[in-house]
Amino acid sequence: METDCKSNTYAVLDSARLPIAVMEGEDKILRYVNSAFSTLMCKSVEEIIGIPFAQLMPDDEICLLLLDEVYRSGKCETHAQQLNAQSHPLYWSYEIWPTYGDSRDGTKPVGLVLQVIETGSLHRQTALMNEALLLSAVRHHELMEEAETLNGKLEAEIRERQRAESEIEQLAYYDVLTDLPNRRLLLDRVHHAVLTCRRTMRHGAILFLDLDRFKTVNDTRGHQLGDLLLQQVAQRLKHSVRAGDTVARLGGDEFVIMLEDLNEDAAEANEQAEKIGAKVLASLEHPYLLEEHRHYCTGSIGITLFGKSQESVDGLLKQADLAQYRAKAAGGQTIRFFDPQMQAKAIARATLDVDLRFAIQKEQFMLHYQPQVDSNRYLRGVKALLRWKHPQRGLLLPSDFILYAEEHGLIESIGLWIVDTACRQLMAWSRKPETSHLTIAINISSREFGHPEFVTRVLSILDETGVNPNRLILEFTERVMFGSLEETLVKMSALKACGLSFALDDFGMGFSSLTCLKSLPISQVKIDRSFVCDILTNHSDAVIASAILGLAQNLGLSVVAEGVETEEQYAFLATHGCRIFQGFFFGAPQPMEHLLLDCRKIGSPFS
Ligand code: C2E
Ligand code: MG
Repeated sequence: METDCKSNTYAVLDSARLPIAVMEGEDKILRYVNSAFSTLMCKSVEEIIGIPFAQLMPDDEICLLLLDEVYRSGKCETHAQQLNAQSHPLYWSYEIWPTYGDSRDGTKPVGLVLQVIETGSLHRQTALMNEALLLSAVRHHELMEEAETLNGKLEAEIRERQRAESEIEQLAYYDVLTDLPNRRLLLDRVHHAVLTCRRTMRHGAILFLDLDRFKTVNDTRGHQLGDLLLQQVAQRLKHSVRAGDTVARLGGDEFVIMLEDLNEDAAEANEQAEKIGAKVLASLEHPYLLEEHRHYCTGSIGITLFGKSQESVDGLLKQADLAQYRAKAAGGQTIRFFDPQMQAKAIARATLDVDLRFAIQKEQFMLHYQPQVDSNRYLRGVKALLRWKHPQRGLLLPSDFILYAEEHGLIESIGLWIVDTACRQLMAWSRKPETSHLTIAINISSREFGHPEFVTRVLSILDETGVNPNRLILEFTERVMFGSLEETLVKMSALKACGLSFALDDFGMGFSSLTCLKSLPISQVKIDRSFVCDILTNHSDAVIASAILGLAQNLGLSVVAEGVETEEQYAFLATHGCRIFQGFFFGAPQPMEHLLLDCRKIGSPFS
């Protein structure tokens, strides 16, 4: 058991890395050494066992003395040499402690154990290992650093390449002075836009712009200021169009604007392009500040549309350029179209616009009045119809200008003039007993009605003129409902409360006429001329006309038949319950003096 225990202990010591020696008795006879100890002594275990320690290391006096000391005192000793552990081969540090036998009486040790805790070679191994670890750590660090530097370099290289690429792209596709797309990019974009337009059936437009008298800027103020002007022009052009549109510089003072997604209808698209062109020209008119110089500059624009046509991209640019030359030839600061027809229309529109704006001031408008008679052919009132005594074009009908006036915000002032004129006529009539009962019906366009101040303006005219509101009938088409129904109702109710009444014009022509009748305070409907004209020959027209009459009767509305041209039409309508008639059979629209001449017979039947 004891041997087992001992041999177990020795087995553990055998595998220990530190050298250990066990000795016995006063003579310190070596009884056990582990393999680390035998390696340290450069002797085999067999050579060592059984000899006294002093024989193994006769010259190590310190160690021999310490062994004696421990054996004598029973106290452990540690020895660490002051030599440089790394460089001295014989360097060793050790601990010695006593062993006591089993029957230990606590007085005297029976032997000693010496355990080496450090030697020169062990120290070197550790040092080497530490060094290796340190080196690998350093290396790791270095590697990390290297990787970082490498990454940094790579990133910089990529950035540089990207920068170079975008610089190349910028140079290839953009104008250096203004940063706008250059001719190359423009051609590409026009090409795509042309294809898109063919697919979507919508239109696009090329606006070719050239600055007026740009050369004089360069000549008088120098090229540097010329460049500054071009840069400022580029900015203004960019701000006058939508983000999706292209503004390009071809070189010199030539710019091109490409518009996309314009109306499907060529005339509409043309008008859109013209409007944008006008906006662009207006944006150029403001003064430029070139360093400390104030400078004025205008431009000329040539426009061509593209859409379904198979015109090439180059062809389109040439067309717009040609139109631009014509704009220059016309004195500059203007727009010209490539298409002569479009050109004529654009000029007509522009002229119409200017003329219309002055027509009211110059008293060029007048009202013609068409009689409205009852079933006994007595005059009940008149329908007022607008005419324009154009100084050059003669007497113009509403179809020549009313739509334009509606679309360009001019109808409001014209409409007020009509209300005012009709009221003055009513006032004149009111003074004579034979005419004081007559009514006047006037057309009110839905645009005009939609104006927020329509009601107040009409009421203030009524107030000013002192007219009896019962004598004024406002005629609308169902388009009046296209705005908010609630708002329409509020406005109509306000006017009705003051005594005005409403007639629904063109009844049966649209889809929502019945909704109008149901929702709005209307007291009269007008059967449109298109039903009346074929009432005797076309069965459906006859059915529709009599249905309207029946419906109106049931709803307590009066009906006016429009466009009555013959005795037979009148007779048919009268037999089906119509009570008021308007049409050439009773009289065409005419100036008041003619009507009155005709109406010497007021009080006697018409026609
Ligand atoms: P509307 O209000 O339905 O006017 C009736 C139109 O039919 C008038 O044409 C009139 O001259 C024409 N007419 C009347 N009786 C006959 C007939 O027996 N046979 C034929 N063939 N035609 C007849 P006009 O004066 O050219 O006006 C056309 C339209 O222009 C008007 O239709 C109305 O929508 C608009 N308009 C006329 N005056 C004004 C106005 O003062 N303001 C507004 N907003 N629109 C107006
Ligand atoms: Mg009508």
